[in-house]
Amino acid sequence: MEVLGHCPACGGKKHNGSMVVCRDYLVTLELFQIVECENCQLRFTNPRPSKQKIAAYYRSEDYLSHSDGKNNLLEKTYQHVKTLMLDRKLKMIGKHSKREGRKLLDFGCGTGDFLLAAEKKGYNAIGYEPGKNAASKAKAKGVRVFTRMEELYETITQTKPDIITLWHVLEHMHEYPGIIDTLNLLLNKNGILVIAVPVSSSLDAKRYHKYWAAYDVPRHLFHFTPDTLVPAIVQKGFRFVGKNGLPFDSYYISLLSEKNKKQDKAENTGPKPTKIKPSLIDFIKATAIGSASNLSAMLQRTPWSGEVYTFEKTG
Ligand SMILES: [Zn+2]
Repeated sequence: MEVLGHCPACGGKKHNGSMVVCRDYLVTLELFQIVECENCQLRFTNPRPSKQKIAAYYRSEDYLSHSDGKNNLLEKTYQHVKTLMLDRKLKMIGKHSKREGRKLLDFGCGTGDFLLAAEKKGYNAIGYEPGKNAASKAKAKGVRVFTRMEELYETITQTKPDIITLWHVLEHMHEYPGIIDTLNLLLNKNGILVIAVPVSSSLDAKRYHKYWAAYDVPRHLFHFTPDTLVPAIVQKGFRFVGKNGLPFDSYYISLLSEKNKKQDKAENTGPKPTKIKPSLIDFIKATAIGSASNLSAMLQRTPWSGEVYTFEKTG
C-alpha cells in the first residue's frame, strides 16, 4: 500500500483522520479509509494500492464498466441506462461543438461504446484505455483505441483533439492532478475538456455513507465534489463552462449501495464476496433514495449523484 503523507492536490500535510471507512465489496472485502485534506478539502483514498498493484482490484466479472454482460437484471439495467446515457452525453458535447467531423479523444474509453456512438454522430473519435480486456472489447467494435500513452502521443502530435472526454475516469487515476497538465498539452487551442465524476457531496452519498457504491474503494482514489474539482481544473488553464447532472447515476448507485448494505450484513470475513442479487424491496428503496437525490439536485440543495463538468482551454 502507498501512504500519502500530503495532499496530492495542494501538498497540505494535514487531513482529518478518516472521513469514512469503506469496504471493497467487489473483489477483496478489504477496508480502506477516505480522508479529507484540511486545506483544500480534496477527499482521497489513503492508504491506496500503488499503480503497480491496483490491477488486482479490478479482477472481477462484476466490474461492469469493463464488461458488456446482460446476464441478470442489474447488468441489463446497467446496459440499458448506458445506451440512454450515450445520447445524453453526445447532446451535452454537441452544445459546445457544432461543427461535424471534430476530433475527439475519449480518455479511459472502457469497452468503447461512447467512441462508437460519437463516430456515428460524425466525430473523428479515438480512445485511450490501458485496461487490456476492455481495450480489446472496444477494438472488436471497430473503433480506434490505444493502450499505451506513447502510441497516443505519436498519433496526437499531428492533429490535436478538439474535445477530450473523461467519463468516470479521473477518480481512478494515480496521476491526478498532474494528468490535467498532460490533457491540457494534448488538447487543441480553445479545446473542450469534459469530466464526469461521482459526487461525494450528493444526497445519496450522504444517505448511504460507508455503503455508498460510488466510493468504490480502492478503485476510486479520489472522491470529488464541485468545490474540489472545478477550482483545481480552472487553476490549470481552463475556463469553467458549466455542469450537467447525470440523473440515472443516483438510481444505479443507490441500487448497488443497497446491495453493499446487504452484503455487509451477510458475512464479510472473506476471502471473497458472496454474490448477492438485489430484491424487489432493494429496487424500491433504491428508487426512493435515487429520486430524493435527484429532487434535491433539481432544487439545487445538493449536487447530482454524478455530474459532468465542461471546461474550455484558455491558453
Ligand atoms: Zn489539499
